[in-house]
Amino acid sequence: MEMKQDVKRREAMRNMYERTRAILHLDLDAFYASIEQRDHPEYRGKPVIVGGSPDRRGVVATASYEARKYGVHSAMPSRTAYRLCPQAIFLPARFEVYRAVSHEIMAIFRQQTALVEPLSLDEAYLDVTASVRTLEEAARLAQEIKRQIWEQTRLTASAGLSYCKFLAKIASDAHKPNGLTIISQDEAPAFLEALPIEKFFGVGKVTAVKLRELGIQTGRTGDRRQDADAQGALEHVRTGHPGRQPTAGLPGVRGDAARSARAAFRTG
Ligand SMILES: [Mg+2]
Repeated sequence: MEMKQDVKRREAMRNMYERTRAILHLDLDAFYASIEQRDHPEYRGKPVIVGGSPDRRGVVATASYEARKYGVHSAMPSRTAYRLCPQAIFLPARFEVYRAVSHEIMAIFRQQTALVEPLSLDEAYLDVTASVRTLEEAARLAQEIKRQIWEQTRLTASAGLSYCKFLAKIASDAHKPNGLTIISQDEAPAFLEALPIEKFFGVGKVTAVKLRELGIQTGRTGDRRQDADAQGALEHVRTGHPGRQPTAGLPGVRGDAARSARAAFRTG
């Protein structure tokens, strides 16, 4: 009897460690600007910039995709944005509206899982491990969430699906707007090898310059001889800032998959 229990316990432990998580990162597309275009049909299809006025010392909070074509992006001085795109419609932020929409979106997320970790008004990680058995099911769930957001708010979101937060977030950014990108465990190493170094979580502008000086352009290491400094720095980047793991005790893999295997990356 006792032996049987031991076997069972060992098996349970193994399952716990082998089981991987399904993490979604959902991110609304050009959130503030999209809300303004939704609420003001006359702004649709036009460059819209939400943020500070260009004649004061404001910055861009969100630019619509039409404005981004001119090189306008968040955190840019509004004056610079005006120079790049003088025909843009500049609007002050309506935070009470954005917050209300955010509540709606977070409620949609919480219908799917209790394990929601909001990052901002329009972005969250969802641990959906308990509701799906396969990556395909998780992808369908992501589509369903995107559809619900559209139905309820008339806004589009991009979704990233992977087994850890770091890759899920990178994935959601890969095909914006209205994208769904999947990075499976098999695909992760090749994806990371091709990923520009500044895309790694925790790598800001200054660190990126330093890493590039050390010869590190991407997540690729492996077959190239690098000095110990560079190797150490990259290991730190890969493993030192995997992002807080979300919520309660689900076992899983951390964001250091580049060590394991190889493959491509796909979108669905
Ligand atoms: Mg967003």
